[in-house]
Amino acid sequence: MSQSYRSTRSSAKETQSFEKTIIQGLASDGGLFIPSEIPQLSPETIQQWSHLSFQDLALEIMKLYISSEEIPEADLKGLIQRSYSTFRSADVTPLAKNVTGGDENLNVLELFHGPTYAFKDVALQFVGNLFEYFLQRANKDLPQEQRKKITVVGATSGDTGSAAIYGMRGKKDVSVFILYPTGRISPIQEEQMTTVPDKNVQTLSVKGTFDNCQDIVKAIFGDVEFNKKHNVGAVNSINWARILAQMTYYFYAYFQAVKASPSKVKFVVPSGNFGDILAGYYAKKMGLPVEKLVIATNANDILDRFMKSGVYERSDDVASTLSPAMDILVSSNFERLLWYLARDVLASGDDQRAGEIVNNWFIQLKTEGKFVADDAVVREAFVDFDSERVSDLETKETIKETYVTSQNPKNYILDPHTAVGVCATKRQIAKDNDKSVQYVSLSTAHPAKFADAVNDALSEFDGYSFEKDVLPEELKKLSTLEKKLKFIERADVELVKAAIEEELAKMGLL
Ligand SMILES: *Cc1c(COP(=O)(O)O)cnc(C)c1O
Repeated sequence: MSQSYRSTRSSAKETQSFEKTIIQGLASDGGLFIPSEIPQLSPETIQQWSHLSFQDLALEIMKLYISSEEIPEADLKGLIQRSYSTFRSADVTPLAKNVTGGDENLNVLELFHGPTYAFKDVALQFVGNLFEYFLQRANKDLPQEQRKKITVVGATSGDTGSAAIYGMRGKKDVSVFILYPTGRISPIQEEQMTTVPDKNVQTLSVKGTFDNCQDIVKAIFGDVEFNKKHNVGAVNSINWARILAQMTYYFYAYFQAVKASPSKVKFVVPSGNFGDILAGYYAKKMGLPVEKLVIATNANDILDRFMKSGVYERSDDVASTLSPAMDILVSSNFERLLWYLARDVLASGDDQRAGEIVNNWFIQLKTEGKFVADDAVVREAFVDFDSERVSDLETKETIKETYVTSQNPKNYILDPHTAVGVCATKRQIAKDNDKSVQYVSLSTAHPAKFADAVNDALSEFDGYSFEKDVLPEELKKLSTLEKKLKFIERADVELVKAAIEEELAKMGLL
């Protein structure tokens, strides 16, 4: 059973518990945690799972990665129930079939029915409950002043911040501080973050850029003394619990896609930090018979370039695209896939040797800005993956075309990230020309979150109205609520640290 975890950069045999893996986030050698083994499912088990609800499926999957000695099954079940009770759809992640018109085998997997209307809720609702669970257990018999706490600190240019806030809100002994650049995020995103009334939540509006905010967060994580005092925690996309929670919808969508008739299934995933699609890789490696996982990138295409050349190279500048949640320079979770590729192709299955190879690659990336993998490594990646790069122009055209041609429902509106995926899916359909394949295109956000891109694509159509056709009532109401934010007048780490301590005192968490 793979219920212990190792680092991708370690050449040692050591493994550690699930709890430590989740709370620590990043390994001390700078690597990412991976399960020491990937659990294997028989075709019979997969067949039995095909009738399960989303929640029951989540339980079966998570049981394989978390020992019952760490979290007893009944507790895990409770955590899962609580995490998905906040979703607006009974299916949690429903599959919209045949929405795009013309392509009967193109399905859209809607991952945006959680509290912040973005796919990150699927994981972060669970992570918040998990943090609280571990703390409550450790704090059970302790007096107030000895209780363990977690102070979550993060920077956001939009989506992650609100999903983290909604995941952590109201959780006991947990506080969350989200930094964002003043005036540089969309009004809806700012409203989502600043209107949460819970005492343990504080947004920090920092006069500066997103990079300034990220640098401050990095400095806080590197501040040993501050860290020791406040037990600073991260909820960024490398946290293993996020990958684990995302596996469920690959299974769930697969079963729905093949229900009518047995078919091959390809998943197409709009990708940035590679966390979403990596969950699909684990599902496939566990035995789910997925044909291919297709990486869809925007102009920030480090992943697509790797797949075409074997060169993993950071560009100098991040491009600002219509799909900002995918605007990245390096793709942090890709390291986990690289470890499996190194082990299977270069290290003849030797885990320790794989850790050395990955470590060397990342030393090169740091010192030279790139590393080059053998052709055999890239060929191995193509066994499970394919890759497409989509421009802003194509993104906009895809939003338009889907709006015009969709039949069920009519005038279906894609957010720009989802449109990157749908454009890539259509290319795959044309290339494959095979009616026996079902395509599942992952929809990662509700269009209301990216009003500018959606309006830019659709305002030319008579009868289109953002207020009427896109904006949900629940988000409309946000503009009437009171905002809670703290303004930081200079991008300075000391000012931010002081603000956090001042607020922790008010929260009773100092
Ligand atoms: C985070 C995000 C993505 C990218 O997911 P990764 O796991 O980073 O690849 C895509 N779309 C939206 C809307 C997101 O918020």
